[in-house]
Amino acid sequence: MPYRPMPDYETGPVEVGDNLYAYLQWDGGWGISNAGFLVDENGVLVIDALMAPSMTLAFVEVMRGVSQAPFRHLVNTHMHADHTNGNQFIEGAEIVAHERCREEMMEAAELAARAAANRPPGERGPKPNWIQDSWWEELANVEATLPVTTFEDRLTLHYGNTQAQLLHHGPAHTLGDSMVYFADSKVLFTGDLAFFYATPLCRGHMPNWVQICEIIREMDVELVVPGHGPVGGKQELQDMQEYLEFMVSQTRNAFENGLSEEQAALAIDLGQWAQWPESERKEMNITNLYGTFASERKELF
Ligand SMILES: [Zn+2]
Repeated sequence: MPYRPMPDYETGPVEVGDNLYAYLQWDGGWGISNAGFLVDENGVLVIDALMAPSMTLAFVEVMRGVSQAPFRHLVNTHMHADHTNGNQFIEGAEIVAHERCREEMMEAAELAARAAANRPPGERGPKPNWIQDSWWEELANVEATLPVTTFEDRLTLHYGNTQAQLLHHGPAHTLGDSMVYFADSKVLFTGDLAFFYATPLCRGHMPNWVQICEIIREMDVELVVPGHGPVGGKQELQDMQEYLEFMVSQTRNAFENGLSEEQAALAIDLGQWAQWPESERKEMNITNLYGTFASERKELF
């Protein structure tokens, strides 16, 4: 693939279909994700809820500028904080997610509660590196708000004549990823199954993620709204898929040759992909792939 730098885009709404909007956040880096919404006269379907309350409240204001109808559903495309922290601020919405997304959110909430129980009352743990200082204070107001409706493979939400199809194709970016497909508009909201012009991060199963890229390629889709980056299409998805395939094959070689993760990280030269933002995710992706390959090996014996 010829390297393509990220095109400029602005934080705000982009109309992508009939009554259908992406809500983008520049520059798509750590914690800075996209969302979306569909409006009809009876309600609003919201896709993802963003990270810091100030982000979610700005997003809510934009939606309120388009429609005063109540929030009917909020889809969490996956469990990550930059897509679910804002759940509590989408007031009145029924939160819908894949069943493993809910499980992962519960596990994360339990871990956080256990860590908090070991600290003096009112004291917060250390701020993770990727969280910007300006968000840290606001995040004290976030309460884990779980999905109340879950599904296994697919679920269709009906808004008038418009159908939103929620699709799950196995573990990939996380264990419980969903895409939201609007067949009429040929628009696919992928959550973090797509990162455009930036390095994808894998916490689930990267070989299966490549398969999901193949599934999307076969779909009748003209616009893809990624979890991070500008609205794009199948070309941008192809760029990301090439990175995933490169990482799977290179890391598999390193694993089979008995290299440690550290040695693999030194041996794997990202080449053109080193120019993508968040290239440091290479190490995390290697760790994730080593886990995937080790569990494959266990299954053989
Ligand atoms: Zn994510």
